[in-house]
Order: sequence, then structure tokens, then C-alpha cells
Amino acid sequence: MQDERIAKMTEMLLGGGKMLSVHCGTCKGPLFEFKGKVICPVCGERTEAAKAEAKPKAAPTEKVEGILSAKLNVLATQLEKETDHVKTLELLDRIKSILEVLEKLKER
Ligand SMILES: [Zn+2]
Repeated sequence: MQDERIAKMTEMLLGGGKMLSVHCGTCKGPLFEFKGKVICPVCGERTEAAKAEAKPKAAPTEKVEGILSAKLNVLATQLEKETDHVKTLELLDRIKSILEVLEKLKER
């Protein structure tokens, strides 16, 4: 396992990659800059640290989508338990609003 890591790092360096002072959030190994991308030789391109370093402004809508999805789950659970007709309609209205926002986010 350790040897495999070193082999991959060496391969990346020989291919023109540059070792960065940033470490991978998954395996704690050093990240490399290779062909304009930040890559972990062990985990591949998609590491949390690489995302944060390479594209700081890339994910705000993803974050909003995550929060809204979590809210939808909470509302759906409430809706399931709700027996009061008026409150059920209120919940449905809130769910509808969230779904509308999610739709708009997808249009972008
Ligand atoms: Zn890694």
C-alpha cells in the first residue's frame, strides 16, 4: 500500500506534476498539481481539499440544494404525522416553495 502510494507520486512527478503544500482530506497524503488540476495521487482528482483549493467559488448552489433537501425531508416527516387539515395545507405550501427554489437552482 505504502509502496503503491510512492510509486504513484513518483509517476506524477516524472510526468511533470508539482507537489503542493496542501494535503488530501481523505488519505492525508500530499496533493499534486498536474496539468492544471489539483490531484491526489492515491484518491484521484475528487478530493475535498482539492475542491477547496482549486475552485473556492464552485459550490454555493450545491450547498443551498443540500440545505433545502434536508428541509424537505423534515417537512415531509411532519406532513406524514400531521392530522390537522390547516396545518397540512401550510406544510404543503412550504414544500411547494422549496421545490420552486430547487427548480430555479437547476435552471442555472
Ligand atoms: Zn487522497
